[in-house]
Amino acid sequence: MLTYPEHREWPSTEREWAQRIEQVGQQRLVGPDGKDREAAPKAAPAPRFISRREWRAAAPTQTDTVNFWPEWGGIVLHYAGGGKEMREEHSPGRTPAPLDDCYYQVRLIQHRHMHPSPITGGERYWDIAYNYLICHHGYTFVGRGLASQPGANGSRYANERYYAICGLIGSGDPKPTDVMLRETKAVMEWVRRYDQAGARVEGRHVKGHKDVDRDPPTQCPGSLYPYIGNGYFD
Ligand SMILES: [Zn+2]
Ligand SMILES: [Zn+2]
Repeated sequence: MLTYPEHREWPSTEREWAQRIEQVGQQRLVGPDGKDREAAPKAAPAPRFISRREWRAAAPTQTDTVNFWPEWGGIVLHYAGGGKEMREEHSPGRTPAPLDDCYYQVRLIQHRHMHPSPITGGERYWDIAYNYLICHHGYTFVGRGLASQPGANGSRYANERYYAICGLIGSGDPKPTDVMLRETKAVMEWVRRYDQAGARVEGRHVKGHKDVDRDPPTQCPGSLYPYIGNGYFD
C-alpha cells in the first residue's frame, strides 16, 4: 500500500491523478489522510495497470517529457515480434518469476532495450521503449507511462508525436484474446483522456508500426493490425 503524504491538495490535476494510478498499479490508492481513494476519476475506466514497481522495472537512464506532443500524432501499436510471445503464466507473487511468465517477459524486454547484444547490435534505449505493454491475460504493464516520449516508433518524428503501445503477442501465437483487445482499447482511451493523444489530428490517429516506419519494412504489429483497419480502437 502506497501513501503520498507530500500531496496536501488531493487531487490536483487529472493527469497527475492518472500518473499516480499508474505508479500504484494494482495496489490500493490511499490519500494523505490514510483513507482509501477511488482508483480513478469516475468517468474513466482505468486499465488494469501493473506498476513499474510491481514488475520490478530497472530505473531509466533518461526520460523526456518535454519533446512529446501526442495531440499532433496519436498512438502507434506494436507487437512483441516473431515466434510465440504469449506467456502461460501471470504470477505477480512468485520470486523469481517462472520463465514462461509475463512479468519475466517484460523485464527481459526492458533489459534487451537497455543492453543490446554486442554481437547482433541494436539501439541502446534509456528505458523500455514502449509506453505500455499489454498481455493476453488482459493486464497493462506500465513502461514509460503517461506523457513521456517513447523510443519504439522508428523515427524521432514518430517518437515525438505518438504513444508506443505494445501487445505481448507474436506471429506464432493464436489470435489476440478479447480481454487483450479490450485492455488495449482501454489504454488507448487512457492516453486520449489524460494526454490528448490524437486530439488535433484529422482522421484515424491509431496507426500500426508499419504505417509510420517503412525502412526497413516491418510486420509489426502482426495480428493486431487488422483491428486498426476495422476501427476497433477508434
Ligand atoms: Zn513495432
Ligand atoms: Zn499476463
